[in-house]
Amino acid sequence: VDPVVQEDMDKFQETFKGIKNRFRLINRIGEGTFSTVYKAEDLLYEEYDNDWDIEEKENPSHYISPPVKRQKLSHFGLPEYTQQRRRPKYVAIKKIYVTSSPARILNEIELLNDLRGCRSVCPLITAFRHTDQVVAVLPYFRHTDFREYFRKMTVPDMQIYFRSLFTALDAVHDQGILHRDIKPTNFLYEPDKKRGVLVDFGLAEREGTDCKPCICMLDSAERRRRVHASVAAQIGPASGYPKNDSRPSRRANRAGTRGFRAPEVLFKCTDQTTKIDIWSAGVILLTILSKRFPFFNSTDDIEAMIEIATIFGQKRMKQCALLHGTVFETSIPTIGQAGFTLEKIILWSTCRNDGGDGEIPLTSEEKLAVRFLERCFELDPHKRISAKEALEHPFLKIAEE
Ligand code: ADP
Ligand code: MG
Repeated sequence: VDPVVQEDMDKFQETFKGIKNRFRLINRIGEGTFSTVYKAEDLLYEEYDNDWDIEEKENPSHYISPPVKRQKLSHFGLPEYTQQRRRPKYVAIKKIYVTSSPARILNEIELLNDLRGCRSVCPLITAFRHTDQVVAVLPYFRHTDFREYFRKMTVPDMQIYFRSLFTALDAVHDQGILHRDIKPTNFLYEPDKKRGVLVDFGLAEREGTDCKPCICMLDSAERRRRVHASVAAQIGPASGYPKNDSRPSRRANRAGTRGFRAPEVLFKCTDQTTKIDIWSAGVILLTILSKRFPFFNSTDDIEAMIEIATIFGQKRMKQCALLHGTVFETSIPTIGQAGFTLEKIILWSTCRNDGGDGEIPLTSEEKLAVRFLERCFELDPHKRISAKEALEHPFLKIAEE
């Protein structure tokens, strides 16, 4: 272990009361914006099962009780599997930064508790608090770094990967939960096992929590009428930008990772649905097919919009903007009216399209992947494929065991 990491782990073990009696930290396995994750050995893993009540009585403040479903075992956030299987010996300890708000931390733990039954979601074993520090304990899930395998993936490999990812999304979406941060580091996949689990519900939310109704929920005639009325009222007959813009500023949840944000997030739609996760999953598929990671590399929302518009073209971006009651205007010459097909983008990215004799066209299985990708990349979230529909799509149907 790197001495710097060792020092960090020693400090954590010293400052977090009682953790040493229970876990032996092995290594640091993740470091993000909101947390540090350690691999640890669960020293009590055999005795555990019957001992929870004693622990709780001795040290009640160390537990965050999940507020819902207070059954005897799940009171501690114990997932169902502990009642059937042996406890895992290795765990991932997620130390959530104290700068995260208590509401955010509670949200993550609450949602993980609600998702306990889902096999494709990494379950929460328990959570502790010591003063202002909160840790979540999850079973350790062996996985391979995405960068190591994504370039080597064949189409059948992709089908297995995405069947696993969409099974997880279907389970999460069925609970009315949006993950909001779908990307390779939050889907722990092991190519040998052909299985992955979804982690990191730090940004997840219940569908409809944001809900100021967005104009995109209306039928198209009504939407057009309102947009025209509002444009006419605000800007008036003279063209140009209004001096005193009295329109309410648009605010919407824009949490997530750059490059994986759906267009409706960029257009600040106030009624975001589980479809935003489907878009992000599509970005992963585009990454694999194009063999480029990260595929989108913007530093802000405007750049992200430019990247998307370059592919999809001005015409479709304008329609998409109108859908959410806003407008898309650009004078950037590289953004054409029609954009490019995803097939072209993939051929260019993989240097298979030199416009001449050297061109290697997509295989029929790659074309199937592209057809699926087009369904994930519907700019209109209402038309975009759902996780359940995706599992029935020929691209994923084939991978069914
Ligand atoms: P953050 O909010 O900081 O992104 P995550 O929950 O995504 O936190 O965890 C960060 C990283 O830690 C993950 O990308 C993964 O590499 C590792 N990790 C998280 N949970 C587990 C787990 N249960 N098993 C193995 N590794 C994990
Ligand atoms: Mg993460």
